[in-house]
Amino acid sequence: MVVDIQGLTMNRTIEELVSKVRPNDPYIRSVRVGQNRPESCDDNDPLASVLESLAQNSPDAPVPTVQGQTLPPVARTPPPVTTPPRSPSPAATPGTPNRPLLIALDPGHGGEDPGAIGPGGTREKDVVLNIARRLKRLIDAQPNMRTYLTRDSDFFVPLQVRVQKARRVKADLFISIHADAWIKPSARGSSIYALSQNGATSSAARWLAKKENDADLIGGLNLGSHNRQVAQILLDLSTAAQINDSVKVGSRLLGEIGKINRLHKRNVERAGFAVLKAPDIPSILIETAFISNPEEERLLRSSSHQDKIAKPF
Ligand SMILES: [Zn+2]
Repeated sequence: MVVDIQGLTMNRTIEELVSKVRPNDPYIRSVRVGQNRPESCDDNDPLASVLESLAQNSPDAPVPTVQGQTLPPVARTPPPVTTPPRSPSPAATPGTPNRPLLIALDPGHGGEDPGAIGPGGTREKDVVLNIARRLKRLIDAQPNMRTYLTRDSDFFVPLQVRVQKARRVKADLFISIHADAWIKPSARGSSIYALSQNGATSSAARWLAKKENDADLIGGLNLGSHNRQVAQILLDLSTAAQINDSVKVGSRLLGEIGKINRLHKRNVERAGFAVLKAPDIPSILIETAFISNPEEERLLRSSSHQDKIAKPF
């Protein structure tokens, strides 16, 4: 992909972008930057180049148009930090001592929302909180890993707030923990979900529609002051990468969970769950077991089984 940016002159920040693409970057193989005309430079990294063009965006730049229509003027904010979101400096790379891998654990439901209730009266909100706490202890004991709970006791958290919380702490992975239920008590087993394409499409539209998300949507990129089509493309790219990563993580996890519980579905399922819609955090939802199945309800209540469920992570 070649992007020509008008009115840009080479500087050190742009040159440094090239060295910031790491050999193991899953999205960018290489970036080349050059000044082919005095007033424009071409750049093979679309995200970085858009960030650069935003940084260089002057207040009297032409108003972006969609199919010939002039878009309404939008508020301009100071230029964002010109760091491409997928090529962090070594110190900020997950897994290094300076930046532990941060996993957001999201126990479903809570407060006035009990979630599903088993035939023996077990409430989903209670068992998933217990499992999340066990998981937190296990993960926090690992070197270079930390967890963040979207709720750490019995209170209600709206779905979108759960995602906002994870984004605020810049989580590297989001895991929502639930227990399944079905009208037939025979339904059983664990399943894992990632975001579906339909869910992603509707979510991109919603993210774009929500003004409060503008400032920090993609690595500090301010979408509010930019052409909506470019914003849409960036969101789609980022969400596609998110889903791709989520399916990979989910598949690995299914393999491990399959060793301790029957699988309800053998592959990662796809759905438009609201908690999976962060465009920039790989996000999965695990249905640990069927609380509506008397046998699995009993297992979900048992602390030794809760430990077992937490182990594969
Ligand atoms: Zn649930």
